[in-house]
Amino acid sequence: MSFIPYGRQDISEADIQTVVEVLRSDFLTQGPAVPAFEEAVSHYCGAKHAIAVNSATSALHIACLALGVGEGDIVWTSPITFVASANCALYCGASVDFVDIDSRTYNLSVDQLQIKLEQARQKNCLPKVVIPVHLCGQPCEMEQIHQLSQEYGFRIIEDASHAIGGKYQGQPIGNGLYSDITIFSFHPVKIITTAEGGMTLTNNTALAERMMLLRSHGITRDTKQMTHEPDGAWYYQQIDLGFNYRMTDMQAALGLSQMQRLDNFVQRRHELAQHYDELLAHLPITLPWQHPDSHSGLHLYVIRLQLDVIKLTHREVFDALRQQGIGVNLHYIPVHTQPYYQAIGFKQGTFPQAERYYQEAISLPMFSSMTNEQQEYVCSTLTAILSK
Ligand SMILES: *Cc1c(COP(=O)(O)O)cnc(C)c1O
Repeated sequence: MSFIPYGRQDISEADIQTVVEVLRSDFLTQGPAVPAFEEAVSHYCGAKHAIAVNSATSALHIACLALGVGEGDIVWTSPITFVASANCALYCGASVDFVDIDSRTYNLSVDQLQIKLEQARQKNCLPKVVIPVHLCGQPCEMEQIHQLSQEYGFRIIEDASHAIGGKYQGQPIGNGLYSDITIFSFHPVKIITTAEGGMTLTNNTALAERMMLLRSHGITRDTKQMTHEPDGAWYYQQIDLGFNYRMTDMQAALGLSQMQRLDNFVQRRHELAQHYDELLAHLPITLPWQHPDSHSGLHLYVIRLQLDVIKLTHREVFDALRQQGIGVNLHYIPVHTQPYYQAIGFKQGTFPQAERYYQEAISLPMFSSMTNEQQEYVCSTLTAILSK
């Protein structure tokens, strides 16, 4: 059996053809594919606006800026996430803090959020923005988080990098019912890909316009946004300080083609998850728990080792799987324990659920083109390792 990665892209001949067509066309970037991809995603999710960018990291950055995050502000997120969910606040000159995870979903805990908000209100240091992360594709408890946002006056960015194609209370992730902005990632390991790429979705037209400006240098060609009449047909104005965060047409064409298979991808991931649930049920591990309100995008399938019953250490189980050609991974190292975050004052031991999760979690291979044979090999190998 050749090496099985934990995740990988699923590229069809049609995907390849569509990118080749862009290469033969007039526009490699800033052509028709980007708005077509944006339209496909906003339509699928039921959001008014979608803005394609060159990564989810860029999406998080302009989402924070659009919500006015700046110096003196505080942004909260989960410690169990990719570093980008926290870094985006620091890019804006704001400070960041974390809310410990729920022991069943591994998402930011609503109970912990409420406790921390109450303490912050008393100390007059409430967050401006909270970024719930839909870990593994499982939606956070957005209705409750939204309720708290009303009570404590913060805005919400959903980091849905793992969750395109997932549903919360039967509605697509990205519809913005319980948040200001949702962001997606299209990195190759995620559910659909554009190689590098990301998107922000919102129902708020002012936020969408701001993010569109920030994506491309703060430049506008819309006369309504200008300070005076155009000097001529060449004219544009820079009215804000933006970036070059644009997605290319080659990437957008790939994304548009991938969108046609999104539901199939998620369905296959659910088949694989169900199969894992059955094949691994007898082992001393905790399988992923699905919240009844959520239909996960299933970017990841994370197991937790019951180390009090297993003779091997977490590291030994992980290494044994890697030695057998299984590309297990760990999502994620708690962000507050990263050297950079330690250097800015975070302490080990602050978020005990997150730290315990890190000592037990392993992401098993999960990708739509994974075969049943590959999956059976993963399960029999893990079974053999744990029965040592
Ligand atoms: C992948 C990921 C990101 C960053 O995505 P890029 O597109 O690589 O910038 C941010 N947040 C989470 C939770 C992710 O998994």
